[in-house]
Amino acid sequence: MQKREETRMKVKFLGGAEEVGRLAIKFQDDSTRFMVDYGVVPEKPPQYPMPYEPVDGIFITHAHLDHIGALPVCYHGDKASLYTTTMTANSMEPLLNDSIKIMDLEGYPKRFDVTDIDTMFESLTAVHYEDTVQVGKYYATPYSAGHIPGSSMWLFENSKKILVTGDLYTRDSNLLVGGKPVKADILVMESTYAGKNHEDRQQVIARLKSRIKEVVDNGGKVILPSFALGRTQELIMILADLGYRIAVDGMGNLITGIYLNTPGYLRSRGEFRRKVGRVRQVRGRRMREAALENDIIITTSGMLDGGPVLGYIQKLADDDKSAIFLTGYQVEGTNGRSLVETGTINIAGVPLRPSMQVEFFDLSAHAGHDDLISFAKAVSPEKIILCHGESREKLLDDLSEFEVILPFNGKEFTIE
Ligand SMILES: [Zn+2]
Ligand SMILES: [Zn+2]
Repeated sequence: MQKREETRMKVKFLGGAEEVGRLAIKFQDDSTRFMVDYGVVPEKPPQYPMPYEPVDGIFITHAHLDHIGALPVCYHGDKASLYTTTMTANSMEPLLNDSIKIMDLEGYPKRFDVTDIDTMFESLTAVHYEDTVQVGKYYATPYSAGHIPGSSMWLFENSKKILVTGDLYTRDSNLLVGGKPVKADILVMESTYAGKNHEDRQQVIARLKSRIKEVVDNGGKVILPSFALGRTQELIMILADLGYRIAVDGMGNLITGIYLNTPGYLRSRGEFRRKVGRVRQVRGRRMREAALENDIIITTSGMLDGGPVLGYIQKLADDDKSAIFLTGYQVEGTNGRSLVETGTINIAGVPLRPSMQVEFFDLSAHAGHDDLISFAKAVSPEKIILCHGESREKLLDDLSEFEVILPFNGKEFTIE
């Protein structure tokens, strides 16, 4: 048995400490340096974390852009070993290539190119849930985080056990079983929903189904703006058997293909395959023109900032029998937020005020306040480091039995 050494671990958030987005956490002791995630704030243009500081290994929690959007930058002149699940690795590729397309299209500063993405994938080792890899003097093991397929919490072990949750969802969804606590000495936990609990998921789903029925029975169409990664597929699982004609458009179809072809991550890949067989995947302009013959259209982007969703809304804008049902968090400054708050969106500089019904259904894949507290108690750490949240302090009262650290971007601190 190898002797484990006492260490003083330095921790520095290069992003994502007091904000939701651009998560990047660097850990360093005398022997080993490693980093978890290197994402962007997905705004226009995307906001990057602080500059990459070379490490021995990079561990990715999941493929959402706020966790991977800046990752290729680390492979411009460096080749740190990269570790993710196979599902996350497969999901990353289309998203990063799409980021390059958007940089070109919008004239944003070019932060990385396809060569960096290639170098990144050459440095990648896929790790299955609960298998262990060694980086320097640390043993690292991914556990399912229940957030999207392939999402991981990482446990790092040396003299102490450090658990980094990434984005966490502890309830079962249609696609996944919820993330389960893993014992650790130090818990680094997301806190997106600090101070807020979700409406019961089954109730939200029941309400969504009944509102869709009302709209369709009344002769309207339902547009479901949806993130490509995770949400599109969850909506397919929820709606496919209801007997409506459903079209799915945008990058979600590419991700659906990846989910179907990557075994070992879904609650039931057979069930998912069967339900995907019941929806129409829109491919090409002709199919897109005919897509409004369907009752429901699930399409990107989830926050109405581009993607085929805008074309559908333009066509249905005057139809007050039709509806836009949002199911994801709408970030400040996006069209989605503006639609909810003011009823207006902006398409290529032109304001549009659709007469359609607009409603929000909370199908979040982040643990709510009470679930974060139960999770932390079950991990029963000595210290808790809260990140990935704008109101982290709202968790402090309920975590008063623990030592809790609220780090800030760029401010290094030491644990043990
Ligand atoms: Zn996420
Ligand atoms: Zn996130």
